This record gives sequence, structure tokens and C-alpha cells, in this order.
Amino acid sequence: MDIALALDIGGTKVAAGLVTAEGDVVHRAHVPTAVDGLWPAVAELVSSVLADTPVVVCGVGCGGPMTADGELVSPLNIPQWRGFPLRASLAELLSSDVPVFVDNDAKALALGEGWRGAAVGARDYIGMVVSTGVGGGVVVDGRLVDGDSGNAGHIGHLIVEPDGRACACGSRGCLEAEISGLSIEAATGFPAAMASPAVIERSGVLLGRALASVAALLDIRLAVVSGSVALGWGEPFFAAAQRSLDASARIEFARGCRVVPGALGADGPLVGAAAVGWRGLGRGWAVGATRR
Ligand SMILES: [Zn+2]
Repeated sequence: MDIALALDIGGTKVAAGLVTAEGDVVHRAHVPTAVDGLWPAVAELVSSVLADTPVVVCGVGCGGPMTADGELVSPLNIPQWRGFPLRASLAELLSSDVPVFVDNDAKALALGEGWRGAAVGARDYIGMVVSTGVGGGVVVDGRLVDGDSGNAGHIGHLIVEPDGRACACGSRGCLEAEISGLSIEAATGFPAAMASPAVIERSGVLLGRALASVAALLDIRLAVVSGSVALGWGEPFFAAAQRSLDASARIEFARGCRVVPGALGADGPLVGAAAVGWRGLGRGWAVGATRR
């Protein structure tokens, strides 16, 4: 049975798992990100998860930004890594016959939703995350879109509020600057989990506004949204987003675009990371398996 080593590298923890070619996570472990010497801790985690299990590929989802193919990663929420050579470090750690593929964590999750989650069977969709930040990945014509530098899908930086809040990217009124967990906390003084119904409603409306533009631009009719903030807000957030999307997406082909919660649960990031690996190997059954 072919097994992938999957790694999800985030601001809070680094998770590693063994994932079958069918997308089942059969073993998992994690270490906190906030340790002195993060790379040695990751290397130890990988060794402990692998034990003596042979793997055929390593897939990684990591916070951005990063250079193409994850050669150098500088995750915004991992300050100790700036221009860290992640792919090469993993390749050196693993046996030489295990190829390593690294991608943005939101793109990885989008792949995972198409493989085993709420976008199974969809050829065209956006998978996105609303948590500490806002990210996404788009699958069009059955292919995950990479873009020139591998950063396609950054829906968090669509402008949804002219003259809105300043965004970390340098612009104003970006979706991320208005509805991410960090932004909500900065704006209201409370964590997103304690947001008022009015804040949740407004956030949904802004998400729907962004998705209407995405639907018109890319001719997609499905948006799968996961992440702790979105899933924590739940039905009122999704209902507001759907109403706003319906009101804004008026051009005929974009009508009826649905926004739904992600279905992968806590294993989503590892399933997505594994999908990055299988895609890298060109396994055609993972949505978007075709690489450039
Ligand atoms: Zn921005």
C-alpha cells in the first residue's frame, strides 16, 4: 500500500501524518511551532512519525509567502523562518527516492476538499480558509491554479471595502483585513469566537461580495470555506454569505453559486498536504493532479 508522509506547517503547530493513497490518515503527531530550533524539532517529528514505514512521497502544506514550489518559505506567522529552504531540508532528511512537494497551506486544503471533502466531484471551485488569516486555492477545469509565482488563490487580498481597514499587505479593505480572526480581534477587542451577531453578519456579507467576484471571474459555482473562525461562526455566517453572494452574483452563469462549510474536519490540513504530494507525483485521481 502506497503511503504519503504529510506535513502541515502552521503558526501554532507543525503536524505530521501518514496518509494512504485513498486519503485516510493512519498516523499523526505534532509539535508546537514556538520552540527554539524549529527545524530540529520538525526533523525529529518526521523521524518519529515515519519510524520504519516506507513512504513514496512527501507532501507539505505551509503558510506563505514562499517562492515557487516552496523552495524558500517565509510564513508570516513563523518569524524564525525567513527564506527557509524547506523543500531541500526535507529532501535531505528523507531517503533520496522520496520526492518532496511543498505548497501553500490554503491551496493544499483546497486540493484536499476536492479529494475527500465538500468539493468531491466538482471540476471548478474555490477552497478557502477563514481563521487567523484568510487564504484560498482555486481549482478550474479540474486543475489547481498555481499562477506565475505559485500564489494564485489569495482571496484574502480581494478588496471588499473601499477605504476599509489597513491590511498587512499594504493595501486597504482587503477581505483578510476585514474578516480574519486577527482583524476581528483588532477591530472589536474580542476574539472572533466572541463576535456579536452584527459582526458575524457583516463578515458574511463581505465574504459573499468577494465570492461574487470570484464566481464571475472564474466561472465557478462552489465555494468551500473552512477554518476555525468560519466554522466557529457557523450557520449565521454562511447564511449571510450566501445571501450576499446571491445578491451580488447577477450575471447569468454565476447565479446559483453555493458557499458551503468544509467537510474534512481536523484532518483536513494533513489530507491536503498529502494531496500536494500525490499531485506532485502526477496521480490523476487527486483533483488538480496536473502540474505545470
Ligand atoms: Zn491585503
